[in-house]
Amino acid sequence: MSFIDRHLGPRGRETETMLSTLGYDSLAHLIDEVIPSNIRLDGDLDLPAPLSELEAQKKIASYAAQNQVKHQMIGAGYYDTITPAVIRRNILENPGWYTSYTPYQPEISQGRLEALLNFQNTVMELTGLPVANASLLDEATATAEAAVLMHRANRKVKNGFFAIDSRALPQTLSVVRGRAEALDIPFEVTDFSQGLPEGDLYGVILAAPGHDGEVRDIEPLIKEAKERGALVTVAADLLSLTLLTSPGSLGADIAVGSTQRFGLPFWYGGPHAAYMAVTKGMERNLPGRLVGVSKDSAGKPAYRLALQTREQHIRREKATSNICTAQALLAIAAGAYAVYHGPEGLRAIANRLHDNAARVATALVATGLTLVHENFFDTVAFEAPGRADELVAKALEAGVNIRKLSADRICLSIGESHSEEVLDALVNALGGTLDEAEGYELPSELLRTDDYMSHPVFHLYRSETSMMRYLRALSDKDLALDRTMIPLGSCTMKLNAAAEMEPISWPELAGIHPNVPADQAQGWKALIDELSNWLVEITGYDAISLQPNSGASGEYAGLRAIRAYHEANGDTQRTVVLIPNSAHGTNAASAALAGLGVAGVATAPDGSIDVEDLKAKIEKYGDTIAGIMITYPSTHGVFEEQVVEVCQLVHDAGGQVYVDGANLNAQMGLAQPGKFGGDVSHLNLHKTFAIPHGGGGPGVGPVAVGAHLEKYLPGNGFEADAEGNLAAPLPISQAMFGSAGVLPISWMYIAMTGAEGLRESSEIAILSANYIAKKLRGLYPVLYAGETGLVAHECILDLRQLTADSGITAEDVCKRLMDYGFHAPTLSFPVPGTLMVEPTESESLAELDRFIEAMEHIHAEIQEVIDGTVTAEESVLRQAPHTAEVVTADEWDRPYPRSQAAYPVPALRLNKYFTSVGRIDGAGGDRNFVCECPPMEAFDLEAN
Ligand SMILES: *Cc1c(COP(=O)(O)O)cnc(C)c1O
Repeated sequence: MSFIDRHLGPRGRETETMLSTLGYDSLAHLIDEVIPSNIRLDGDLDLPAPLSELEAQKKIASYAAQNQVKHQMIGAGYYDTITPAVIRRNILENPGWYTSYTPYQPEISQGRLEALLNFQNTVMELTGLPVANASLLDEATATAEAAVLMHRANRKVKNGFFAIDSRALPQTLSVVRGRAEALDIPFEVTDFSQGLPEGDLYGVILAAPGHDGEVRDIEPLIKEAKERGALVTVAADLLSLTLLTSPGSLGADIAVGSTQRFGLPFWYGGPHAAYMAVTKGMERNLPGRLVGVSKDSAGKPAYRLALQTREQHIRREKATSNICTAQALLAIAAGAYAVYHGPEGLRAIANRLHDNAARVATALVATGLTLVHENFFDTVAFEAPGRADELVAKALEAGVNIRKLSADRICLSIGESHSEEVLDALVNALGGTLDEAEGYELPSELLRTDDYMSHPVFHLYRSETSMMRYLRALSDKDLALDRTMIPLGSCTMKLNAAAEMEPISWPELAGIHPNVPADQAQGWKALIDELSNWLVEITGYDAISLQPNSGASGEYAGLRAIRAYHEANGDTQRTVVLIPNSAHGTNAASAALAGLGVAGVATAPDGSIDVEDLKAKIEKYGDTIAGIMITYPSTHGVFEEQVVEVCQLVHDAGGQVYVDGANLNAQMGLAQPGKFGGDVSHLNLHKTFAIPHGGGGPGVGPVAVGAHLEKYLPGNGFEADAEGNLAAPLPISQAMFGSAGVLPISWMYIAMTGAEGLRESSEIAILSANYIAKKLRGLYPVLYAGETGLVAHECILDLRQLTADSGITAEDVCKRLMDYGFHAPTLSFPVPGTLMVEPTESESLAELDRFIEAMEHIHAEIQEVIDGTVTAEESVLRQAPHTAEVVTADEWDRPYPRSQAAYPVPALRLNKYFTSVGRIDGAGGDRNFVCECPPMEAFDLEAN
C-alpha cells in the first residue's frame, strides 16, 4: 500500500459516501466549487514521484550518511549530553506525548501539565527565582524577550538603555541586537570586566558563564546595577547552577538560558527548550505559557495554563510577546531528565564535567598553552598564539570538534558522553597526556550551599521501572492523537506518521552541532536544500528561510523583511500594517515586535474582508501603509473570492501582502499564495507538514518570499567579523536552520506523498470538513459558508443561539465532549461563542461519524435544558467532565443517571476515557497564582 493510502483516513468507498452525502459525484467537482477559479492552480506541482516508506527512509538515510558525526566540544550554547533511553523511548518517541496539543483544555492534559510543572520547578530551583515559564523558543530569543521585558517593567528609568555582556553567546548578541533595533530600544554591548557603563541604565544582561567559559563573580555587578535602579537578567547555564550560586540569590530579577544539555541532542541547532524565570511581581509580564495550580470541581489540586495563556488573542498588539507555539515537548523531556537524575545525579554530572575540564586544562597547560581564565565550569579557553587553526585541525584528527575563538585562541566544552578514551585521544592529539587535575577548583565563594530540588518528584523515580511507570501514568491522563481525533480549527492535527518520526532520532542527524565545519554537515545541507525547494514549489514563492522556529517567529521574520524592503526603497514612513479583526492574535503581536503599528480592518457579514472598509483604511493611512496581513483561506474557514482584489488594492497603495500560511492544508496543489498576490507567507510545518504538535512545540515556521524580498530573509550573522560587524540581515533565531532536528519529518511527508498526495491531502481535508458541516448544520448553524454553502478545511459551529436559549456555553460543550472521549474543537476563535472544527484528511469516516454522533447527543442534552427538564447548572453539560471517582461515588444526587454521565453512547462501553480531574476553576487559579509543584499532602486522601 502506498504511504498516501496510510496517511488518508477515509478509504475509497468512504470517500464516495461522504461525497454523496454532500450531493457530489466526484471529489474534483466538489473542489471546483470550493476553490475560486481565479486562484486555482492549473496542472500539478513539480515534485518528485512519491516514495514508499522504505524508499523514503533509505533516501534520508543516504543523506544522514553524508554527515560526519564527531565528538562535539564546540560548546557555544550547545553541549554534549546523554538522552536517557527511557526518556527517548517513552517521551520523544511516544505518540502519547508527541501528538498531544497545547494544554488549553486542562482536564484532558493533566499529565503533560504536571510534566511541564516539573520543568518549571527545575528551573525555579536551580535559578533561585520563584516563577518560571513552561519554555521559550531558544536561548537567544529568550534573552531578547528579557531585554524587552525589562524595558516594559522598569518604569523608574525613563528613556534609558540596556547593557549586554560582550561575553554573551554570539548568537544571543545577534538576535538581541535585531530585536532591540526593530523596537528602537537603545543598548550597548559592554565588557563588564571594566564595570557598568555610565548613563541611564534600565537593564543589564550578564552571561554566566561567559561564552568562553569564564566563571566570574557577578555579585558586585548585580549590586551596583540594582543600586542604580536597573533590572538584572542573568543568562545562566542551568547545569552549572547545580554547583554555583543561583542568580536569584545574588539578586537577579530574571534568569534565561537553554535546557538543551538536560538530555537533548544537538539536532543541528534545535529544537531545544529555553527557559525564563523571574522574580515575584513580574509574573504577569512573563512571555510564553505558564503552568499554574488550581482546584477542580471536587476541590482536588489540578493543573492548568495560567495568567497570560491566550493573551495574544486577547491583547493582540499589546501582548507581552508573540509567542504561541514554544518548545513543550523538549521542556517535558528536560524536566524528565531532572526528575530521573534528581539533584544529586545532576550535581554528579556537573562535577564530573568540571573535573574532566580541569584535567584537560592541566594536561594542555603542561604542553605550553596558557589559560585565558582560571575559573571555569565545563568550558576552557586557551591562548595559543597563531596556532588556533593547527590545534583545531589536530583535534579533528582525533575525532573531536573544538572551537576556534580567534587566530590565537581555542576553546572546548566537555560533555556527558565524553569518555576517558575521547578525552585521552584529544589530549594526545594536542601533544599532552591526560592525568589528574592540578588545581582549577571552582572558587568556594562562588559555590552554592543551599538545598535545592527537595520536592519528592525529584527523588521518587531513580529506577527505570519507576520512571517508565511515572511517564506512563502521566500520559495515561491525557488525550492525544493516539486516542482520538483532535478537531482543532486552525491547528491541523493530522497524522504524524511513525516513518516520518523515526529518522529524527538517528545519531547521524541528531548528533550534529550547528557550528560544525560545512563538510561534516553535507547530509543536512542536502536535506534542507531539497525541502526548501519543495516548499518554494508548493507555495509559489521564489525563496524560503527555514530559520523561524514557530509560526509567530515566521511572522516576525516576514514583517522584518517587509520593513527592510520599504526602508531600502526610502519609504521609512511605511510602518502601518492592516490586519483584519478576525486574524490570529499572533499577527498583531508580531507586527508590534517588528516595530510596526497595527490598524484593524472590519469583517463583512459573510466573514470575508470588508473591502469597503479596506478601501477606507487605505485612504486613511495612505503612504504609511507597510502592508496587510491576511490569512488564506481566512480564519473563518472560507476561500474568499475577492482575495485577488484585496492584494491588488494593497499593492496599488504601495504596500506588501503578507499571507498567513497556517491554513495551507486547504490549498496544497490547489492554489499558491505566492501566485495569487502574496509577497510573503509563513508556513506551519507543525500543522500542514506533519511535525507533531508536542503539547505546544516544537514548531517550524518557514518564511517564504517573492524574489524582491529574498535578500531580507533572516541571515547567518551569528559571529561578528574582525571589525566587529555582523552580516545583515540579522538572524531571528539562534541557529541558521532553527529547529533543524525536526525537518526530516516534513521531508519524509512530502517525499512520501508527492504532488498528487499533497493535493489529495488538501482535498480530503476539505471533504471531511464539509461532511461534518453538512451533518451538523441542522443542529448547529455553520458560520460563513462560501457562496456555494461550502466551507474550506474547517467549519465554525455557532452555539450562540443555543447559549442564549439554554445558558449552556460553548465551553460546556467542550467539557462534555471529554466524557465522549474527544478533544474539544477550537473554542471561541475567531468568533466568541463558537467552536471551530478541523478534522484534517487523516480521520476515517468512522471517526468523523463518532464525533458527529457525540455532537448530536450533546445537542439533545442541551435541548433538555431548553425544554426546562433540567437547569443549566444541574445539567450533565455543566457538570462535565465526569471523573470515574465522581461516577462511582456511593452517593449520587444528580438529575441524570450515572450511565448518562459516563456512557452516553454505547460505543463508549468498549473504549472509555475518564478525565483524571473534574472541571477546573480557571479564574480562581489566576487569583491565587501558584506555579510550584504542590506538596504531597495536597493529594492526601484523608485530607480531601
Ligand atoms: C497557529 C497559527 C499561527 C501561529 O503559529 P505558532 O507556530 O503557534 O506560533 C499564526 N496564524 C494562524 C492562522 C495560526 O493558525
